[in-house]
Amino acid sequence: MSPLFALTGRVALITGGNGGIGLGMAHGLAEAGAAIAIAGRNRAKSEAAAGELAKRGVETVVLEVDVADETSCRAMVDGAVERLGRLDILINNAGINIRKPPQDLALTEWRQVIDTNLTGAFAAAHAAYPHMQRLGGGKIINIGSMMSMFGAAFASAYAASKGGIVQMTRALATAWAKDNIQVNAVLPGWIDTDLTRRAREEVSGLNSVVLMRTPARRWGAPGDMAGIAVFLASQASNFVTGAAIPVDGGYSAQG
Ligand code: NDP
Repeated sequence: MSPLFALTGRVALITGGNGGIGLGMAHGLAEAGAAIAIAGRNRAKSEAAAGELAKRGVETVVLEVDVADETSCRAMVDGAVERLGRLDILINNAGINIRKPPQDLALTEWRQVIDTNLTGAFAAAHAAYPHMQRLGGGKIINIGSMMSMFGAAFASAYAASKGGIVQMTRALATAWAKDNIQVNAVLPGWIDTDLTRRAREEVSGLNSVVLMRTPARRWGAPGDMAGIAVFLASQASNFVTGAAIPVDGGYSAQG
């Protein structure tokens, strides 16, 4: 592997890294040599993911977290540093959607989505900052969505949270460039995961809409997210900050 992309000696913390896109990214980082902290609510799922990653010969740890809870987020970041010695890379990937028309979405449900997808990402970045600053740099990767750009009738809180992710990314990138911390967002297209399997059940016709609208004519796989994660976590991206990069098989390029 080119030294530009090597992550040996680096430590990455991935929220929601126990499945789907987070685990796809974790595999990329582990292959590049990073030690990995997997953080999620479901410990058994996280243990299974960590076991898979460890086969790549890197150190892995599991942390239980509810990213919607600030105290839990802080404990997660401190736990990663305590157990793996440092924190170089944070991927804010944990996310949920509650699919309902806006008029049926209760405010408690709105808050649950915003607290998980947006406030949780801020709380984790906030907790990670002093550790990265002390190291002289770091990489924060926030997971947005096509709904950072587009709306959907069943996703008012989700779209608001993912639009917020892009603006928060730009603000953090601007603030922390002086600390050599690069903050970027990845905007995945439609990727085949537990989240979208549920969406396909709940939103009729979604499968054919996705296939028709995506120029690559397929759903993405979690493995499609590995390359962008390695790029944004490595020194190859040291002059890339505040960007929002679609990884979508061309979905957002097509009118
Ligand atoms: P998954 O449902 O497979 O993954 C979501 C992850 O988030 C799970 O691992 C879950 O772990 C974790 N999670 C959810 N809530 C919390 C919480 N409160 N605290 C800690 N962890 C939590 O879906 P995806 O892999 O598809 O989604 C990953 C990210 O990618 C999300 O932010 C999603 O919005 C985004 N995305 C997905 C797209 C897709 O097409 N799949 C498209 C665009 C964006 P656990 O259950 O253990 O808590």
